[in-house]
Amino acid sequence: MSQHQGRHFLQIPGPSPVPDRVLRAMDMPVIDHRSSAFAELAKAVFHGCQQIFKTAGPVIIFPSSGTGAWEAAIVNTLSPGDKVLMVETGHFATLWRQMAARWGIEVDFMPGDWRHGASPAEIEAKLKQDTAHTIKAVMVVHNETSTGVTSRVGDIRAAMDRAAHPALLLVDTISSLGSVDYRHDEWKVDVTVSCSQKGFMLPPGLGFNAISDKARAAAKTNKMPRSYWDWEEMLKPNAAGFFPYTPATNLLYGLREAIAMLLEEGLENVFARHKRLAAATRAAVTHWGLEVLCQEPAEYSPVLTAVLMPPGHDADAFRKVTLENYNMSLGSGLSKLAGKVFRIGHLGECNELTLLGALTGVEMGLSLAGVPHRAGGVAAAMSLLEERTHSNASAQ
Ligand code: PLP
Repeated sequence: MSQHQGRHFLQIPGPSPVPDRVLRAMDMPVIDHRSSAFAELAKAVFHGCQQIFKTAGPVIIFPSSGTGAWEAAIVNTLSPGDKVLMVETGHFATLWRQMAARWGIEVDFMPGDWRHGASPAEIEAKLKQDTAHTIKAVMVVHNETSTGVTSRVGDIRAAMDRAAHPALLLVDTISSLGSVDYRHDEWKVDVTVSCSQKGFMLPPGLGFNAISDKARAAAKTNKMPRSYWDWEEMLKPNAAGFFPYTPATNLLYGLREAIAMLLEEGLENVFARHKRLAAATRAAVTHWGLEVLCQEPAEYSPVLTAVLMPPGHDADAFRKVTLENYNMSLGSGLSKLAGKVFRIGHLGECNELTLLGALTGVEMGLSLAGVPHRAGGVAAAMSLLEERTHSNASAQ
């Protein structure tokens, strides 16, 4: 890519671009992780995380990818042979299910078409049938990064309450946290799983578990072997600002800065920005005459848009054209969507002009790759952004 000038456009749905402010915050000497300076940093990030997850309870930070945080949620709350309810929203729900099965969990995997989110009504019906309360947990992916569909976690919690079922609620917010409205305590989520490289705008390397009292109580009696992922091993030293092993010190500097950025903008403004950018992306896609994969408007993802290629055209060949000609990475279709969709990421540090640059790259790429479309999608996105900016300005 040496022929390209300027910045690479990283428009995949995570890892998302890391803001300069966060990069500068991490550009620090590594400090002694048993010093009081470190304890101060750790306490600040634990407190900041509580604000982002919207919880008064503990948030555990593992040096790990999101997959590690998935595993931590399972091994701390469940026992081999336990039954759980999961929903096939897409590739990531399928992978989490596979992991649960490897840990000896019996998964009731409700089939899905990869174009809709988890249905609160279907979950309610399943839980009502389970009068003996054999289901120990409901596990859902909030934002299915493979499809661009966001499930309604608040409605799922309400459905669980209507069924008066005691199952734990475990939620993957790996691509939603810090970009999409999410409320750990209010929605009575027991374990919220997340990671650093999406809404937190950090490099990969941190995995998170926010945990409820009920989850912590389950961890006291469950029968799953664990060591590295054990919550109690973490929580004891965390209370004093320390870790049981060497933490990812410089990522924590970055995390402190990223949390400050999110809170300075205001979480509600961050969520509104992502919704606005997502609406502009869909305006462009619709204008091009292409189809958004998500079929339920109430579930459109604010952080990425998956676009179906017209029949006879390969999404990966198109992505190669945008990469080689415009220095832009778009997300690929995963597993059964391979070659059929491309994904436009608009999460983390993304604004009107970055998005328009990305959409311009897509529109030029469609032309160059000979994909049939109607020119003018970028102008459609501009009109939507101008309208929304105008209505914001007049509301002030
Ligand atoms: N869950 C979701 C929704 C994801 O988008 C991803 C990664 O993109 C994962 C889980 C796995 O996270 P990681 O790749 O950090 O292990």
